[in-house]
Amino acid sequence: MSRHVIVTGASRGIGAAIAEHFVALGDRVVGLSRSGTAPEGCVDAVALDVADAPAVGAAVKASVERFGPVDVMVVNAGITRDGLALRMSDEQWREVLATDLDGAFYCARAALSSMVRNRQGSLVFIGSVSPFMGVPGQANYAAAKAGLVGMARSLATEVASRSITVNVVAPGLIDTEMTTDLGSREVMTSRIPLGHVGAPADIAGVVGFLASNHARYITGAVIVVDGGLSLGH
Ligand code: NDP
Repeated sequence: MSRHVIVTGASRGIGAAIAEHFVALGDRVVGLSRSGTAPEGCVDAVALDVADAPAVGAAVKASVERFGPVDVMVVNAGITRDGLALRMSDEQWREVLATDLDGAFYCARAALSSMVRNRQGSLVFIGSVSPFMGVPGQANYAAAKAGLVGMARSLATEVASRSITVNVVAPGLIDTEMTTDLGSREVMTSRIPLGHVGAPADIAGVVGFLASNHARYITGAVIVVDGGLSLGH
């Protein structure tokens, strides 16, 4: 049966691969991003800033009116503004927390409101291995992504009685625009036990699994998808 799937940050990178994954399964996929673009086959693409709570609420409400209850919400939109803590500006800190943590909460809350009424659903957050590894220059990003894990596990307990699962996928180094200019990319690649950077599709497949019936007994989990990068940390 065709599901109503919302993917944030669907315009490119990991979010686009996730949207394409669900489109290929025949689902009705709505993409949210600042640019408002989404891969071919998506039923809608909305331009918004996930840090704008009223905009997120209105977009999800409009999507529910058009496509029915939300079956799957993938909270993927995220940014980095790396810098060593002593030189990190308030803006660098706030921008990342506003998008990666506040925005994630607004999207989750809006989707859960529909899922709770429908008594089923799957919420998947895209986290990161950064908080588990301790990456210099990522105090803001690691704090936001660590926050996602706490948020997800708390939400999982709140909505389990409604047959809603809440999980986190924590990618390692994935080949997208976000990592193109990463100064430490070559060093990090050499530390990946599987020997290469991941592809967006490697994350999309795991998200697809978590949203499927095969994962119906998995909730509050953090699935690391990093080619072994964080092993030993
Ligand atoms: P990209 O930079 O390639 O894409 C980011 C996406 O998020 C874009 O679609 C962008 O939309 C959207 N976005 C960013 N800020 C906002 C905002 N304020 N409101 C709405 N949409 C926004 O990133 P990736 O695909 O690499 O990353 C996706 C997720 O995966 C992020 O949460 C990231 O932290 C996480 N991740 C990525 C890793 C990697 O190695 N690539 C590793 C670990 C985690 P637009 O283009 O319209 O601005």
